[in-house]
Amino acid sequence: MVKTMSSLMPEESGRRRLSSRMVTVDVYGQLAAAILRNDIPPASRVNINALAVSLGVSATPVREALARLESDGLVTQLHLKGYRTTDLLTQREIRDLWQFRMLIEPYGAGHAATAASPEQIAALQHEINSFTSAPTGSDFDSYQDFSDHDARLHGLILEVSGNDVITRAFQRTNCHLHAFRLAYDRSAGSATVNEHVAIVDRISAGDATGAAAAMMEHLAHSRDRLLPLAKGT
Ligand SMILES: [Zn+2]
Repeated sequence: MVKTMSSLMPEESGRRRLSSRMVTVDVYGQLAAAILRNDIPPASRVNINALAVSLGVSATPVREALARLESDGLVTQLHLKGYRTTDLLTQREIRDLWQFRMLIEPYGAGHAATAASPEQIAALQHEINSFTSAPTGSDFDSYQDFSDHDARLHGLILEVSGNDVITRAFQRTNCHLHAFRLAYDRSAGSATVNEHVAIVDRISAGDATGAAAAMMEHLAHSRDRLLPLAKGT
């Protein structure tokens, strides 16, 4: 769970006792949360020194956190000018990204249906059982829990399908982080839960065609839920 930046402020003395590695992880979590909920607006310069002061740390852990955030696609480095946050996805970028997902994930779900071991089926069922209903709140933490669950489930299905290249390609899109920035203040719908149940049901039944079709339908719906939240082109 990511705390808010302000929630850390009274803990300065305790934070000084943390190892430098812990401080970096902590700063990363704070900055990621600030960008994901647009406290640091999209496409804006990141003031490293100001962030270091507000978090009560030196500039070094802030720079280390920014390097991680760059690999997440949440900031980009400006030549000799520090960092800026990335733009929110446009409708066109969502269509392109979901088209890519619709190429690899139905394939992955189909393969998972034929390749999954009993242990892997149990892991998928366990993930489904961890979210039997959508969070009722539309707050940041509720949505983050749901987004993390969604990311774990989609990643797990690709892992079960057994193609590491496809799994890594999916992870590099950071699609869940980008979707999160557009949708975190909305309630996650129960439709998503039902679609996930259908996918895992078909994988568990060994139904490759049905699993691929269920994944394709879920991705089409998730794309269509996201598109109205983004700017055109
Ligand atoms: Zn999903």
